[in-house]
Amino acid sequence: MTDTIAAVATAPAKSAIGIIRVDGKNALDIAKHMFRSTKPISDNPRLMCFGEMLDTNGDVIDRGLAVFFNAPHSYTGEHMVELFCHGSPAVLREMLASAFKAGARPAMPGEFTQRAFLNNKLDLTGAEAVIDLIDAETKNAAKNAAAQIDGAVGARILKAHDSLIDLLSEFYAYVDYPDEEIEQKSTDEHIKTLDRITNDLLSLSDSYDKGRLIRDGIKCAIIGRPNVGKSSILNAVLGFERSIVTELEGTTRDTIEESLSFGELKLRLIDTAGIRHTDEPIEKLGVARSEAAASDAELVLAVFDGSKSLMPEDKRVLNQTAGKTTIAVINKSDLPQLIDTEYIRNNSGAPICHVSALNKTGFDELSELIEECFNISGIPCNGETITNPRHAAALKRAAIATASARDALAAGLTPDLAATDTENAVNTLGELTGQTASEEIIRRIFERFCVGK
Ligand code: GDP
Repeated sequence: MTDTIAAVATAPAKSAIGIIRVDGKNALDIAKHMFRSTKPISDNPRLMCFGEMLDTNGDVIDRGLAVFFNAPHSYTGEHMVELFCHGSPAVLREMLASAFKAGARPAMPGEFTQRAFLNNKLDLTGAEAVIDLIDAETKNAAKNAAAQIDGAVGARILKAHDSLIDLLSEFYAYVDYPDEEIEQKSTDEHIKTLDRITNDLLSLSDSYDKGRLIRDGIKCAIIGRPNVGKSSILNAVLGFERSIVTELEGTTRDTIEESLSFGELKLRLIDTAGIRHTDEPIEKLGVARSEAAASDAELVLAVFDGSKSLMPEDKRVLNQTAGKTTIAVINKSDLPQLIDTEYIRNNSGAPICHVSALNKTGFDELSELIEECFNISGIPCNGETITNPRHAAALKRAAIATASARDALAAGLTPDLAATDTENAVNTLGELTGQTASEEIIRRIFERFCVGK
């Protein structure tokens, strides 16, 4: 990590402020070619300093602030300078060119965070949470990721890891000196410890069922017969015209998916072709896709036209919702209501919500109902909810290994046989925190970052 790297850390668009980061051994020297102030920034580490931003010829191109973080008191653990100029892409381009001219090289995606990881500022779970925080689309997702950057998951894994290392040392003592009277904890105690660790790992990995909803959103299919207002509902929730809305039946022929935040939720909303009997081949395909989308979704919004009596196709839609988490959405509440809501209540058991896609009313109630269906407010966002599939899978593998070690002891086998499984669990947890992760895993993780982070 001897190279000094530089990148723009803010989005590549016109904005009030743009930030450039320079990191590495020569960060200060390089920054001198980019920034000039009355007092050098090295005089006051970690304090902002006002001054002039310089282009590749040393001419003033902007005025702004710079701050020097002296190693190891920086995000990466190395010397780092951050320059805050106006967010003009031209200024940022020129400033970056100054950095390169002075000897920095372009930073790779995620390289700043990778340096933080390599310098033990973050474990791998914390580093991955940085991407989750940047990608967070809801407050809950952001809070959970922020706590994970602080080590919420890492700390629990480390605790399990340390207990397993203690166990291993006792198992190995038995292997190395089987005939010696070494004071050892009883097998019962070892079994209890392994049970406690297994339960802790499983409760963490099981939290992924909910964590997935926070991070990736709820896959939600909007189904209904043609013309009940499915596309209008998608557009109303999105706030722009994504789906074509017409009075003609069968306009939406294929499924349309959009990801959006809705109240405290992230939804992956799928608008589908109207469900009805048709002999028209393209529409028929659309209807089949709608039915597949409904069966694949985690939530079905079954839409009905409140201004009309129920039709046989509405009943077909109700049948599609069997066994699925469903909300019956009665649309067109702005019109006189003719629909038989009792029939829907008695035949689906789904909660009912009245909306008008035209007037955009009833959607707060809809988002509250969805939150209730998935108990979103009951999901802890303290970082101990696993949101990353890699973490969930590794935790499960480690739990299987500790359970197997426990079973070996319970079956009366000698500790050396439990040691292999215990060691597997230790290695798997090490992969999670990064202690024993292969270079390939680490490379793949940081590849997903943006440049500048
Ligand atoms: P889809 O076929 O189920 O996707 O239905 P559309 O969204 O294309 O809407 C069908 C028709 O119903 C269009 O003419 C919409 O303008 C109308 N429509 C949709 N929602 C409402 C609503 O809340 N109130 C009223 N009055 N009309 C609506």
